[in-house]
Amino acid sequence: MTQHFINGRQTAGRTGETMAVLAPATGEEFTRIACGNAADIDDAVKAARAAYEGAWGKLTAAERGRLIARLGLAVLDHFDELALLEARDTGKPMAQAKADIEACARYFEFYGGAADKVHGHIVPFLNGYSVNVVHEPYGVTGHILPWNYPAQMFGRSLVPALAMGNAVVLKPAEEACQTALRLAVLASEVGFPDGAINVVTGRGHEAGAALSAHPGIGFMSFTGSPEVGKMVQIACAENYVACTLELGGKSPQIVFDDADVDAAVPIVCKAIVQNTGQTCSAGSRVLVQQGIYDEFMEAVAGQFAKLRAGTPEMDLDCGPVINAKQRGRVQSFVDQAREAGIPVIAEGQIAQGVPNGGFFVTPTLFGPVPRGNRLEQEEVFGPVLAAFPFSDEEDAIRTANSTAYGLVASVWTKDGGRQQRVSKRVRAGQVFINGYGAGGGIELPFGGTGKSGHGREKGFIALEEFAVTKTIVHKHG
Ligand code: NAD
Repeated sequence: MTQHFINGRQTAGRTGETMAVLAPATGEEFTRIACGNAADIDDAVKAARAAYEGAWGKLTAAERGRLIARLGLAVLDHFDELALLEARDTGKPMAQAKADIEACARYFEFYGGAADKVHGHIVPFLNGYSVNVVHEPYGVTGHILPWNYPAQMFGRSLVPALAMGNAVVLKPAEEACQTALRLAVLASEVGFPDGAINVVTGRGHEAGAALSAHPGIGFMSFTGSPEVGKMVQIACAENYVACTLELGGKSPQIVFDDADVDAAVPIVCKAIVQNTGQTCSAGSRVLVQQGIYDEFMEAVAGQFAKLRAGTPEMDLDCGPVINAKQRGRVQSFVDQAREAGIPVIAEGQIAQGVPNGGFFVTPTLFGPVPRGNRLEQEEVFGPVLAAFPFSDEEDAIRTANSTAYGLVASVWTKDGGRQQRVSKRVRAGQVFINGYGAGGGIELPFGGTGKSGHGREKGFIALEEFAVTKTIVHKHG
């Protein structure tokens, strides 16, 4: 049984109600978590406010940065414990869990160092005036996060907010919140004041909805589905509160006929297979120029056919997906595509000996997928790659921009002019030329457009998201 973490203490919450959390690899109960409600959220927001007005808010930027960096070191000190916890909670292969904890630690290193480097600026104005532009914390920020990368998301969403001086309240996903709770306890152990970091677990429509609607929140950071993101934004609007939304994508990997095929093929596969396809920035569409389509897809098929899904301990290419609902969702895409007669180019396998109750799906490569099909337009959030041939540069850009999403894209070509033209016209918050980076890249501004959401995370830009810009105009003659 794991409890909320409010005001520096573990607590069962107001009702004591709990819910089961299943291990995705077995389908069996792994632990129970507290079901937070509006009163628990209110307690957490009040604790955060008190910390902001008290011990946490009084720290200098350098002191905040040092505490954040210290927590990053604690993450590394507890590396194996956190990786194991993450793997059991999410079902991900151990290698992925370790990469996630490493990335989590990087957020603390990066923003620990950045905390005292947020400088304002001076604006030259009229004679007799001095103008300073400064960045101030909101006070209390809210964070609602998904289950796919719990530890990394903690780093990505909470740490820049803390670095700016905000106190935070997190509602992690009910499916996987163990590492977030552990990080909050570690934070307390390394010296974070009570109330600086609060974690309330529970259901989205209860604890999540209460957090997004709480008038004591100054800014909201949401990662998850477009449907819930819209609800969170509406709730924020009622309180005139701004939010960032990170809502996933249908990211294209565009391969021109002059691409380095040997370099592209493994990366194209990894971009969809990583974390069993449960990555907002997964490269879930591969667009290949007609002249090399057959050759390229044959090479991708060779890699796909070798893919294996297994338990965290087996540490194969994929794990299970998070739960039965998600498995049903992924399977419905696969079944509908098969029924529609879309060719299966290759399939991986579920490894022998996985537990019967685990939520495993078979990695599947479809193509050519008809334009407008569900596999082109909707996020699967599983290891399913859809292939599309294209004729020329215009067709490539049109196809890449044919969905409502716009998160990440890659362009594979040796032609320098084309690299620039396509990067500029493709609708995405990040474009990789001759590469792909799903996850990681703490230094790189990241975020979407359209149905992928808005606002930017990672890099220095994320610090400004969690700050109010104030212009101080001094008329002194
Ligand atoms: P979700 O949007 O339902 O859940 C994300 C978070 O929002 C969780 O913490 C959840 O408890 C909370 N939440 C749910 N309802 C809420 C409400 N009414 N008010 C406030 N908070 C609420 O996502 P999901 O069910 O976990 O996954 C569904 C789909 O979302 C996936 O299939 C995938 O397409 C997408 N997804 C995207 C990302 C991403 O990183 N962009 C991550 C996970 C899921």
